[in-house]
Amino acid sequence: MAMRQFKAESKKLLDLMINSIYTNKEIFLRELISNASDACDKRYFKSLTDASIDIKKEDLQIHLSVDKDSRTLTLSDNGIGMTKDELEKNLGTIAKSGSQDFKAENQNENIDIIGQFGVGFYSAFMVASKVTVVSRAQGSDEAWQWESKGVEGYTLTPADKETVGTDITLVIKEDAENEDYSHFLEEYTLSDLVKKYSDYIRYPITMYREKSRQKPKPEDAGDDYKPEYETYTELETLNSMVPIWKRDKKDVKPEEYNEFYKNKFMDYTDPLRVITSRTEG
Ligand code: ADP
Ligand code: MG
Repeated sequence: MAMRQFKAESKKLLDLMINSIYTNKEIFLRELISNASDACDKRYFKSLTDASIDIKKEDLQIHLSVDKDSRTLTLSDNGIGMTKDELEKNLGTIAKSGSQDFKAENQNENIDIIGQFGVGFYSAFMVASKVTVVSRAQGSDEAWQWESKGVEGYTLTPADKETVGTDITLVIKEDAENEDYSHFLEEYTLSDLVKKYSDYIRYPITMYREKSRQKPKPEDAGDDYKPEYETYTELETLNSMVPIWKRDKKDVKPEEYNEFYKNKFMDYTDPLRVITSRTEG
């Protein structure tokens, strides 16, 4: 199948992402989750004016799953999805807000800026050697797969997907000298990153987590009985979904205020001061 070429600007950005010397690679998760959340918003708003869309706000969600054997991390959302044309247009070109900001900043050769702004989808290539996007758009009965290993280009092929939404699978890079990528396959890392950057996302971000519990003590257990443990998996919602301004001041860490400020106002420096106030009416 034919390899499609990225637009020139995309190629430049992609190249920067892949060869990024930027240490804050973890922000890729925030970027992908923010896209999934936007997609859920779009589907929800569309459902308000289109009676044929039978989806409730409570049903919209983002799910994370990892497979250490294949080194994959998958983000699934049941948002609006993308058609074949949209996959091509949205992921093959940069014409988007976050990326534009990045480009503007990058003219000062300030590569440190990567990750401070919404650099978007391509940030996945900071941690992944291959990215596969399978999507089915609202109102379409076909699904398409977009796949890329980086600057050489991408492929678009027909795919199978039963439900509306998008699955993005990252093959996480092998560890290198000074660079530990494998921790992005750990449940606790992902959980921490969600809390750090995406806690206020309005849709549940779920993941199955392996847990341990004590087995019930058998009736006939003797005096020398030692408690036994078993592992089980449980679906956990990783984010609190409560916006920062609705949380109690004493529960919000300074880093959380800083991240909130930087994301909201597209700034890359911490705020000078944080002032909280509560008003009742
Ligand atoms: P931005 O979010 O600033 O528009 P991105 O590079 O993050 O830029 O994403 C590019 C575009 O790809 C988005 O605007 C959106 O149209 C599309 N997109 C990315 N991820 C998804 C997704 N999970 N579901 C639907 N569309 C998506
Ligand atoms: Mg985005």
